[in-house]
Amino acid sequence: MIGKARAAIMTAPKEDLKIVEYPLPVVEKGCILVRITCCTICGSDLHTWMGRRQSPVPVILGHEIVGKIVELGEGVEHDTGDRPLKVGDRITWTIMDNCAKCFLCREKGMMMKCRHLRKYGHDSCAEPPHLMGGFAEYCYITPGTCVIKVPDNLSDEEAAPANCALSTVAAGWEALGLQPFENIMIQGAGALGFYAAALAKHYGCKRIIVTDILDHRLALIRRFGATDTINVRGMQEQDIVGAVRDLTGGFGVDAAMEVAGLPSLIPTGLRCLRIGGRYVEIGSAFAGANFAFDASEFVFRQLTMKGIHNYDARHLQMGVDLLSLTRDIFPFREIVMGKVGLDDINEGMRLAESGEAVRVAIFP
Ligand SMILES: [Zn+2]
Repeated sequence: MIGKARAAIMTAPKEDLKIVEYPLPVVEKGCILVRITCCTICGSDLHTWMGRRQSPVPVILGHEIVGKIVELGEGVEHDTGDRPLKVGDRITWTIMDNCAKCFLCREKGMMMKCRHLRKYGHDSCAEPPHLMGGFAEYCYITPGTCVIKVPDNLSDEEAAPANCALSTVAAGWEALGLQPFENIMIQGAGALGFYAAALAKHYGCKRIIVTDILDHRLALIRRFGATDTINVRGMQEQDIVGAVRDLTGGFGVDAAMEVAGLPSLIPTGLRCLRIGGRYVEIGSAFAGANFAFDASEFVFRQLTMKGIHNYDARHLQMGVDLLSLTRDIFPFREIVMGKVGLDDINEGMRLAESGEAVRVAIFP
């Protein structure tokens, strides 16, 4: 295929992204060329753009991507779920391309930590095939990527955040091992919090307690299944812990998840757990996220804490299934609160960074 693709590249943190053109790559064996129909701006795109975390440059940011297949490389006939693929099909795919052969992929089952990992929207775009990020008209999908066909009942903007925000929450969910009728606390009513609440409701949790400092986000998350919301602005830790215990028969929650990206919330979250409770940390995806906690509480109260970064292919499928099965129950379509074209990408980035919109979608 001969042609060009426009892409927005970042050349330095805090500088406006620039539109450039790259030649469309020749589609090699095992690869797929996709016309991007939608890419949502993730919190980690903003961390990179604002220099809060390191990235090679130039880079095409954006990894929460949905697109239509333009060309299938030799040998690509099915998606990861063995569903047949053809030109024109709408797909999403894992944020990572992994080798499936290294020690971490094969022996330890941690594809997200592959020793030869490549991530869409994270690696330099200086060399061909260039088109490895979402803020562009096309994306080139390489053979180590798990591709999933998007069900017809989902809109592009409903499906786009599935391969990062939602899949990561699904991985965290699995790590918490929640059972029906257990109680969960979710710290943070952003995109990840909305997905976590919906998962908790869908799985049959009893109390789904959410903390945040923005009333309008707490109001919205109730529609995603939260049973109790606490605006913790100005509250003392002991009062937050007291409120959570009051909601859970005096014991505390069975499990909690931090998805606000504020390490200062971790000690409070741990203290809201019941004896034997489990805690998953997702939000601190940047260096320097320190917190202080008395380790004897882990011992005496038998707490468990686990970090989650990215996910496995099954979590993406779980996320897509959740969206498709429950889209009439939960208002996933309202997570995208701003929409821009590729030429207005910088406006979109600023809107997302302001925190006014949970997600901003780019339609390249
Ligand atoms: Zn992301």
